[in-house]
Formats: sequence, C-alpha cells, structure tokens
Amino acid sequence: MSRILIAEDEQRIASFVEKGLRANGFATTVVADGDAALAHAVAGEFDLVVLDLGLPRRDGFAVLRAMRQARVTTPVIILTARDSVHDTVAGLEGGADDYMTKPFRFEELLARVRLRLRPADRAPEVTVLRHGALSLDLRTRRAETPAGMVDLTAREFALLELFLRHAGQVLSREQILSHVWGYDFDPGSNVVDVYVRTLRRKIGQDAILTVRGMGYRLG
Ligand code: CA
Repeated sequence: MSRILIAEDEQRIASFVEKGLRANGFATTVVADGDAALAHAVAGEFDLVVLDLGLPRRDGFAVLRAMRQARVTTPVIILTARDSVHDTVAGLEGGADDYMTKPFRFEELLARVRLRLRPADRAPEVTVLRHGALSLDLRTRRAETPAGMVDLTAREFALLELFLRHAGQVLSREQILSHVWGYDFDPGSNVVDVYVRTLRRKIGQDAILTVRGMGYRLG
C-alpha cells in the first residue's frame, strides 16, 4: 500500500484529499504546517507528498527546497491557488514533479498521484472498465453500450468512470459532486441530476438507477 503525506493547513481540503485517497486504497498522514511537513518527508516513510504552498511556519517552497537539499527524492505534487501559477512554475524548477491549481476535482488529483508514484508502487493499470454490457475505455474515453459506441464529454466521462469504479454501490449526490465537480461546488446544485439524465440518454435509460432518497447506482 502506498503511503501519502498530505501537507495542507485548510482542514476542509485536507480532509477532502484524505478521504478520497483512503477510499482508493492509499495510506495517508495529514500535517498542517511546513515544519511538520518537512520532518515527516525527511523521515522517509512516504511514497508521495501532496504539498500546499501556503503553509504556516514554513511555506511549501521552503519545504520542497529543504527536502531536495536533504536528498529526499519522494515525488511531490504541489497544490496552489489559481492566481499564483507563475510562482508554481518556479516551484516545479525547484524540484516538484507536478502541480494542481485549486479548486480541483479529486479525480484529477488521483490521476496525477497514480502517475507520479513509482511503477512498483502503482496499482496494476486498468484501461477498460466493464459492467454487464457496458464498458468504458479510459484511453479513448469512449463508452461501448448495447446500442453502440458513444462519445462522452469530459464530465460525462468522469461521471461514468466514477459509477463503473463503484459498481453496485449507491453514490450520494454529495459524493458524486465532490468527485466529479470538486469540493467547491454548491451542494444545493442539481447539476448531478442533469448530468445523470444526459448520460442515460447516451448509454441507456436503465444504465443508471435512481435510489430514492439516497442517490444513484449503476443498473
Ligand atoms: Ca494553505
């Protein structure tokens, strides 16, 4: 099991990232300041670090610099605000492997985490997800249904991928929102219902079932 250090002082984001990573089979440790981040990263027990730039005590850049000076080669994914992308590019030159701008969708972070983990730490790569007569190719982003091949928009693809990865499980609107739209989305929004309807039109009306009062699950 890969171990991931999450250095993030905003509790809402830290718990969003932690819950998502745990649900996907990673072990996580959360720290909320730069000194603790550096101490944990240097202790070397982690396969990857998710590092916020705006941390108290010692900012993310200083943590990263000190890690690399100490010859810690653990992959680092930086989290940064959208308006400081310029600084972030400097961060990449300072030894980060990748960065995400806030707000971000969990699925985007997960894809980057999987990509940055060393091959030995990666879960075996699945390229086609299947459920009954339905399949989704993760490389071409096309779905195969009993009625033929369909092209999906980016959101439809993310939504169907989520259902297929949790086949048989009921997903609440909140779970779907945070996975496909991100933690910043208005929980009162009906965007999930709208997208489920358009997805049904493409892949079949019975492909996604409504579970009254709870949410949706794959048919
Ligand atoms: Ca912060």
